[in-house]
Amino acid sequence: MERAHENTSLLSGRVVQGNHYTEEAGKGIRRRNAGVAVHRPSNEEFEPTEVLSDKYQSSDYDVIENQLYCEEEQQLAQKKIHSYIWQLEVKRWFVMLLIGMITACIAAVVDICIDKLAGSKYSLVALYFEDRTDNMTILIPFFLWMSIDIALVSVASLLVVYGEPVAAGSGIPQIKCYLNGVLVPHVVRVKTLVCKVVGIVFAVSGGLAVGKEGPMIHAGSVVAAGVSQGKSTSFKKDFKVFKNFRTDHEKRDFVSGGAAAGVAAAFGAPIGGVLFSLEEGASFWNQSLTWRIFFASMTCSFTLNVLLSYYNGNPWSLSSPGLINFGEFTGIGYHGYEILLFLLMGVFGGLAGALFNAINYKLSVFRIKYVYKSVLCILEVIVISILTVSLSFLSIYLSNDCQPITDSVQYPLQLFCGDGEYSASAALFFSTPEQSVKTLFHAHEGSIKPTTLIPFCLIYFMLATLTYGLSIPSGLFIPSLLAGAAWGRLFGIFLHYLSPDLFSDTGLYALIGAAAQLGGVIRMTISLTVILMEATHNITYGLPLMLVLITAKWCGDIFNHGLYDIHIELHSVPLLKWGPPPLSSHVKAGDVMSRPVITLNTIESVGKITEILQQNEHNGFPVIDPYDQSGMHGGTFRGLIIRSQLSVLLKNKAFTSWPTSTAPRRRIELDDFRNEYPRFTEIEDISITDREKECSIDLRPFMNPSPYSVSKEASLPRIFRLFRALGLRHLVVTDGHNRVIGMVTRKDLARFRYSSHRERGLQELPVVSI
Ligand code: ATP
Repeated sequence: MERAHENTSLLSGRVVQGNHYTEEAGKGIRRRNAGVAVHRPSNEEFEPTEVLSDKYQSSDYDVIENQLYCEEEQQLAQKKIHSYIWQLEVKRWFVMLLIGMITACIAAVVDICIDKLAGSKYSLVALYFEDRTDNMTILIPFFLWMSIDIALVSVASLLVVYGEPVAAGSGIPQIKCYLNGVLVPHVVRVKTLVCKVVGIVFAVSGGLAVGKEGPMIHAGSVVAAGVSQGKSTSFKKDFKVFKNFRTDHEKRDFVSGGAAAGVAAAFGAPIGGVLFSLEEGASFWNQSLTWRIFFASMTCSFTLNVLLSYYNGNPWSLSSPGLINFGEFTGIGYHGYEILLFLLMGVFGGLAGALFNAINYKLSVFRIKYVYKSVLCILEVIVISILTVSLSFLSIYLSNDCQPITDSVQYPLQLFCGDGEYSASAALFFSTPEQSVKTLFHAHEGSIKPTTLIPFCLIYFMLATLTYGLSIPSGLFIPSLLAGAAWGRLFGIFLHYLSPDLFSDTGLYALIGAAAQLGGVIRMTISLTVILMEATHNITYGLPLMLVLITAKWCGDIFNHGLYDIHIELHSVPLLKWGPPPLSSHVKAGDVMSRPVITLNTIESVGKITEILQQNEHNGFPVIDPYDQSGMHGGTFRGLIIRSQLSVLLKNKAFTSWPTSTAPRRRIELDDFRNEYPRFTEIEDISITDREKECSIDLRPFMNPSPYSVSKEASLPRIFRLFRALGLRHLVVTDGHNRVIGMVTRKDLARFRYSSHRERGLQELPVVSI
């Protein structure tokens, strides 16, 4: 079936077929089933941020209030309405409880494994370091350290490259996309969770500049997506519970709770978790959801606290609410005059963050274009691991910063220092990143020299930039906090040198520097302020942290986006931003929509439905009334049916027994759809005989009879707000006679972007097959 989908590009004047950009006929163009020409660019041909990928599908948050749905509600209303509503609510809370507890268990396992693995590594290498302090034999612990790290990070990389590539990175960009309504393939699967959790244990233990905090947010979300469905598609096991939650709408709410629980587990910050879900993720929010999400994150933090306090040998002391503990800052305040200095640090953090993002962006583009083969990805991880160990070793070796040994040092290395002393440089490089953050925040005045801090800051900044985007699970929080804490402490030492009385606490400057750097990189404000306040157990720092984070965000935003947004753009995701592109009211639905639209009749032949599904990749089809069909635009618009519904109908043979009969062969119920959710059978896997193709299906009981539609005069901002507020997937454009004239989907909207760079204004991105 050959259909030309035409959509004239407003801005470029190019003809876009089916909204897919075709610059040069023939070259690099392949033909999809749909008969829609798709430009498949070669690696050198495009910048990933300048196109949208057609591989992403959308979630459908609109409740399909079809005849089956209404009948089910009616039956419940007659029989047991109160107990039904009550049971549903109790189930929702129970699922949130499970999400919190399971996420906490995963966090505890991750923490304990890293503690054991990294502890064994550092103890073994420390043994060799202590024995050999002349110039030649010190190479033995160096090579031992390097070999162990290479082995550990290789495991992490193998899991990602051959296990589940979507487990790479922190997972926050992918979860942000999910909550925005974009289904990133495999992002909430059990396999992804296993690769992520095992991978992060090996990556952190392998000494790379990564944190385990971001991956916990992804882990919490996967747990939520799995638990809330009461079945595992991967293990083909259906527990026959929580069937009512098998819709995109319900699942998204639970995933918001899972993300919040992940933050709570990572930082011991349950309120920060709720705000994180609100600020970064959930595009659609309601009041009762806030309570349930808060409950999930509180449960998670409490459960983790209990588990870790047992592990640490102080049962029920409840002093470990999160994986990272910044230590107590109690009793130390700040002076009014210091606020100006904090703002200055915010500006510097914004600039440093923008630089970090710019370098990482260039590197990521390079990786997408040239380092995509499996072997190369693993080799790259090994090279960065060698670089990390070498630079750390060199800094320790060249440092002459010797300090008297105290209890707070995790793995004190004497090296070339005198008896009873340890190398301050080794205390930063030769320990887990969480411990190094604590050292920078709390080490007493004068215990780390600037000559140690300067190389540490530069090396860590560089390593963190190189490491984010490798094929390993990797969190961004800790590396950014470390680099920022180092330059913040350096600034504090400088102020202390100028006036020891006025600026006595260098640890506070380390905290502000850490916040500024992290804020400059990820550009979060309210949730990060609260996360840091909760992690430091100190509300006094609320104002400085907020000011610093806002300043860092404003300064960074002048140059580029936050790193999570950059990585979303790098993957060409059709994400809908918070608001429509400015100054775009002149763009109308008629300019945005695709036409002609592939439609189905209210009573349609099985053969035609099969043919349409086989030849197109579209997921939504307007249903029209064939009887008053007139003119070239087709009949009256009656409803909308989605591909997954059609697949269930065909699979269950919900059509007539004979071409001439009218009654369906089998009665379909809502549970038939719920049982298949979320992985519906592909049309290629459904067998339909030639005789069955002549039978017909009455689509009216299954279609959404009141989908949203607009006239072709509706403006782009108006359509955009409809999609954002209602979580739409398809919007039908109709004419004055309620006849279908066009179709608008998320990709049609996402391709309009406002670009402030090089005075380009409103830009229209091509949708390509990558
Ligand atoms: P999604 O991928 O968001 O889950 P979808 O697969 O139905 O939904 P898209 O992949 O976004 O739709 O659609 C790609 C292009 O095809 C868009 O330009 C859209 O307007 C167009 N399109 C979608 N459905 C139809 C249809 N039934 N008839 C004609 N064009 C359509």
